[in-house]
Amino acid sequence: MLTVDMGIQYLQGAGAKVTATRIAIMRSLENRKDHPSAEQLFLELKPFYPTLSIATVYSTAQLLARGSMLRILSIDEKKVYFDPNMEAHGHFMCRSCKRVFDIPVSFNLMKTEMPGEVASVEYGEIFYYGLCSKCA
Ligand SMILES: [Zn+2]
Ligand SMILES: [Zn+2]
Repeated sequence: MLTVDMGIQYLQGAGAKVTATRIAIMRSLENRKDHPSAEQLFLELKPFYPTLSIATVYSTAQLLARGSMLRILSIDEKKVYFDPNMEAHGHFMCRSCKRVFDIPVSFNLMKTEMPGEVASVEYGEIFYYGLCSKCA
């Protein structure tokens, strides 16, 4: 799970600038379970950081993803969603309200079902789509 301290350490180690907006982005993502979109994160932080741009949200997320501190979910073709939880799990998106929920997935089970050509699995995403209980 991404923490601000881990994120700052990683950015410093990667030679990236640790700016107030980057810290704000990490603080906003820390312990978050609702998978905010880049736009949502931008709109939440913009009132407090008037100089923040959507490009900074994307570039910070990409930096953190490169350090395995953040998942960038391509569950929707129009928007990207962020998830600070790096534990193996799948995602469900409601096609009506577009909310994204965690789905438990056993990564070990997946491994045993891999064909012989696959030596090791380092990363994977599983996406499910349908209607949530509120929208059904
Ligand atoms: Zn829904
Ligand atoms: Zn998740």
